[in-house]
Formats: sequence, structure tokens, C-alpha cells
Amino acid sequence: MDSKSKFMRTLLFSIAFLTLQTFLGQDKTPNIILMIGDGMGLSQISAGMYTNDNSTALEGFEYVGLSKTHSLNQLITDSAASGTAMACGVKTLNKAIGIDGDNKKHISILELCKEKGYATGLLATSSIVHATPASFYAKVPSRYQYEDIALQLSEHDVDLFVGGGKDFFSKREDQRDLIDEMSQHTFVNNLEEFKKSSADKIGFLTYGEEPPPKRLGRAPALEDIVETSLQKMKAKGTPFFMMIEGSQIDWGGHDNDTDYIISEFQEFNLTIQKVLDYAKADGNTLVIVTADHETGGFAITGGNLKRSRVKGSFISKGHTATMVPVFSYGPNSVLFAGIYENTAIFDKMLLALNGASK
Ligand code: MG
Ligand code: ZN
Repeated sequence: MDSKSKFMRTLLFSIAFLTLQTFLGQDKTPNIILMIGDGMGLSQISAGMYTNDNSTALEGFEYVGLSKTHSLNQLITDSAASGTAMACGVKTLNKAIGIDGDNKKHISILELCKEKGYATGLLATSSIVHATPASFYAKVPSRYQYEDIALQLSEHDVDLFVGGGKDFFSKREDQRDLIDEMSQHTFVNNLEEFKKSSADKIGFLTYGEEPPPKRLGRAPALEDIVETSLQKMKAKGTPFFMMIEGSQIDWGGHDNDTDYIISEFQEFNLTIQKVLDYAKADGNTLVIVTADHETGGFAITGGNLKRSRVKGSFISKGHTATMVPVFSYGPNSVLFAGIYENTAIFDKMLLALNGASK
């Protein structure tokens, strides 16, 4: 082959490769937004939907899958083991965060994204040291080591975090003030300050301990926190990973309180709609909405669709082992169709992060 035809061949290959990349949407690594409704089984979603004029933002997603939630040692998981499964891709003991059954620490999807140059964010309607958000940055044998978990967050480089639990940072047994120590982060005290802040790294600790339920006035609204966070992430100009938790759907289940579940789901649903709208406009954002487990053995045993009312019944004050749904939208969302272990949610996010073309 002469040099001219060699050049032509190289040129044609390059054009073909670039066309294929564009076709697969892999010319840019995707944003990944994982949304976890704690304790959000199918009945919780259904109750929220039927009481919302028979409608939920989840209907706008592309694929649905089912996740098996059991932990390493228990058929019925807790939020620590299932959070760790999704965050780190390993089954572990109930109560454990970020470590496996042999106490080995595992890197989380948030940390893997960080290594790839992603911006990262964690937003929750519980405290930020609670089991679900903690699974993405902490490595501890017990989810109840709240002060240790806060210390690990203070030593982590999560760019943006919003949730309760301020006292675990500044009213500690060791007398340290982690908010003072976290010199790279700017701390804001309300939504206005949060919106205005142009700081590179922001912490927003909304309550001293656990935030109250939505119906008792929890503020700011999750959808407003998320809208502002999305703007801040976008402004960074790098891809981003965010985990957003609707934490208290689970607490309504533990209380066997249908109205508590519904009010928490409604806020989460509004937030899902915000995220989905963002992903649709952006075109390169993968959104996954799922739960860590079901809570309460909740069933809808009566109601009236026209009046947007449901009657709930419960068979447990704790969690159950039923599979939970997974909804996906965006690049590589097809990966989340099917039935799989909760650890596969980590595997699939990692595939998407590494530019899978399936
Ligand atoms: Mg949780
Ligand atoms: Zn629970």
C-alpha cells in the first residue's frame, strides 16, 4: 500500500470511529444521578401515584428492572448493607458501611467517579451521616458510629452535600469542630445562602439531628435543593455523580403510617421530575431511581381513585425482602432492565461510567 492510500484508510477509519462514538452517545462521559427512595417498594410508589391523580414522574422513565435486596447474612436487609451493595458492589452484613463480610474496605461508585474527574454530590432528607448517604463515603463496621462517619466525611472530598446531622460535626465527644476543620468547604445555613454561594465545595447541614418529616415542616424542599445542586454541578463543566435520597419514606413504613409514606413520596416524586427534566434537556445524564428495600409489608387494601385516596395496611414494623423496582433513563439505561442483585446496580453504573455501548 502506498502512503496515500494508507492515509486514506486511516482517515476513513477515524471518520467511522467518530461516527460510531457519536451514534452511541459515548463522545462524552455521562453524568450519573442515583436516586434512592429508602423503603420505597412498589406499594409505596403505587400509593403515591394513586393519591397524585394517578400519576408519577416514574412513568417518564425508559426501562424498569427488579433488584434483589437480601444482605450477606440476612434475607431481610437494612439500609447499611443495601446502601453498601449499591454504592460499592458488595454484599455485606447488616449494619456495615463500605466494608465487606471480612472487614475489607471497598471503593464506592462516588469515589470511582471522583477518580475520573467527576464532581460529586450527596443529598438526603435524613442526616448526611445516616446509613444510605454514608455508604458512598464511609467505611465502618456499624452505621451507628455517627461521629466516626462524620469524621470520615470531613476527610473526604465530596464536593457538595446537603442533609441533617450538624451536631455530629460540631457537638462531638472529642470536642472537635469538623465544620471549622473542613477548610476547603464553605458551609451555608439556608437555601438563599446555598443558591448564592459560588464556592467550589459546599456543605449544607440542614438540621442538628434528623430533619423532621415533610408534613411537619421540613425545609428546604428536596426539589429546591436538587434544582440548585444541578445548576452548581452543571456550572463546574465536568461530568458529575449525585446520589439523592428520599430518606423518610422508610420511616413512614416503620411507623405504619400511610400518610407519612405518601407525603414523603410526593416530595421525592417532584424531585424525580426535576431530575428527569434535567436529564432530558441535557441528553447525557443517566438517571436511576430505586429503593434499598421495602418497609412495612405495605399493601393498598382500599381507596378511591377519583378522590385520590388510598387505604394502607401493614404486616410488619420492619423491612421486608420483596424485590424493589429500578427505573432508568438516559445513556445506557437499557443496562438496568431485568432482574438482578442490588450489587449489580453498582456494576451497571460502572459500565455506564466506563462508556459501555450496550
Ligand atoms: Mg436511608
Ligand atoms: Zn428502615
